[in-house]
Amino acid sequence: HNYTREDILRLVEEEDVAFIRLQFTDIFGAMKNMAVTVSQLEKALDNRCMFDVSSLEGLSGEEDSDMYLYPDLSTFEIFPWRPQQGKVARLICDVYRTDGTPYEVDPRYVLKRAIAHAAELGYTLNAGPECEFFLFHTDDDGLPTTLTHERGGYFDVGPVDFGENARRDMVLTLEDMGFEITSSHHEIAPAQHEIDFRYDEALVTADNLMTFKMVVKTIAKRHGLHATFMPKPKIETYGSGMHINLSLSRDGVNTFQSENDPNGLSKEGYYFIGGLMKHMKAITCITNPTVNSYKRFVPGYEAPVYMGWSSKTRGPLIRVPSGRGENTRIELRSPDATANPYLALAVLLMAGLDGIENQIMPPDCIDENIQKMSPERRAELGVQELPRSIKEAIEELEKDELILEVLGQDLAHKIIKAQKKEYKAYCMQVTDWEIENYLYKM
Ligand code: GLN
Ligand code: MG
Ligand code: MG
Ligand code: MG
Repeated sequence: HNYTREDILRLVEEEDVAFIRLQFTDIFGAMKNMAVTVSQLEKALDNRCMFDVSSLEGLSGEEDSDMYLYPDLSTFEIFPWRPQQGKVARLICDVYRTDGTPYEVDPRYVLKRAIAHAAELGYTLNAGPECEFFLFHTDDDGLPTTLTHERGGYFDVGPVDFGENARRDMVLTLEDMGFEITSSHHEIAPAQHEIDFRYDEALVTADNLMTFKMVVKTIAKRHGLHATFMPKPKIETYGSGMHINLSLSRDGVNTFQSENDPNGLSKEGYYFIGGLMKHMKAITCITNPTVNSYKRFVPGYEAPVYMGWSSKTRGPLIRVPSGRGENTRIELRSPDATANPYLALAVLLMAGLDGIENQIMPPDCIDENIQKMSPERRAELGVQELPRSIKEAIEELEKDELILEVLGQDLAHKIIKAQKKEYKAYCMQVTDWEIENYLYKM
């Protein structure tokens, strides 16, 4: 929406909005907000709402404290699930220092900076995600479990699909909030679902992803269920990914399309893939930022393990879906929804642009199933593996100057520090698997 300040004041009045949540995203991709009442709205719209970042995770102990929230007026939205009198609305905000400069560790700023670089070259990134998630039962205390009695599978319908009603409610709520839902279905694993919304420019898509996850979790709760985007909650079945479809347009025309090419791709399309492949290992630290992310990268569950691309096979890291002409796009299948969407899109965009600016041709496409290939054949084709752990991904990120620069040294340092700490804590755990395997035998 192209709302003006006056539009918002009028809407708030007409719709009887009582609370406005000023939202922003922390460096780990968690949504945060500060609520103000209508009495403070003009102040908020004047960019005068101050908050203290010093206790935010990943930022503590630093000299940064007071910051201003600058609401992005185009993001005004009323929550359809809140009371109809005294409604609750939100505005997504940028974070600024008190001297009026953008706070450089604000993820939304990192994406805006990447988008500005693309604009200088004449490009606009379009991104369309496919989010998968599980709907699990809650226990007697209302706390999440990994339990489900559902046995639904790919594209199943009710009554086998126990999540049908919750999913419908999610879709209708998202539509109420301006989303164009392109499809929704039961995924392969029991209690696993996917809802896809229409692609948009990168910043809108990143904002939409934050809203999407909030809506899915909120509506699930109203149905007595817990929605989780955790990449691999159950060892014995499929994990949840967040495939991202990407294309670049110039003057409103998709630059990836080419009629004559066997893969339907232009030079820009190939170079973009080339840039993604070149930086993929470091990018993985951002698109798959948790310990659990790497439990999804195992063979047999339609998640990528090896780095290859194809327009023919279904399961490679990068797929060129069958859409051609204006629908030409590439689909990156590694990301999961624990990624900070602003940072993920920023690094993907800048890696792709690196490919274009430096004319990086990707390795040849591989139209056989890489996962079923013999190790010898993979070696012969020079196929590389995605990082096997967050530790490996961190090491790759530390080596990749471009991706570090996209994030900004300060933010990159904070993320890496937090991820190392998390990995260290994880490594010290004694797991059920160890008890199972060693307690009796040893
Ligand atoms: N769940 C799979 C993944 O982890 C994808 C499966 C699918 O979309 N058919 O990426
Ligand atoms: Mg899909
Ligand atoms: Mg899917
Ligand atoms: Mg997909």
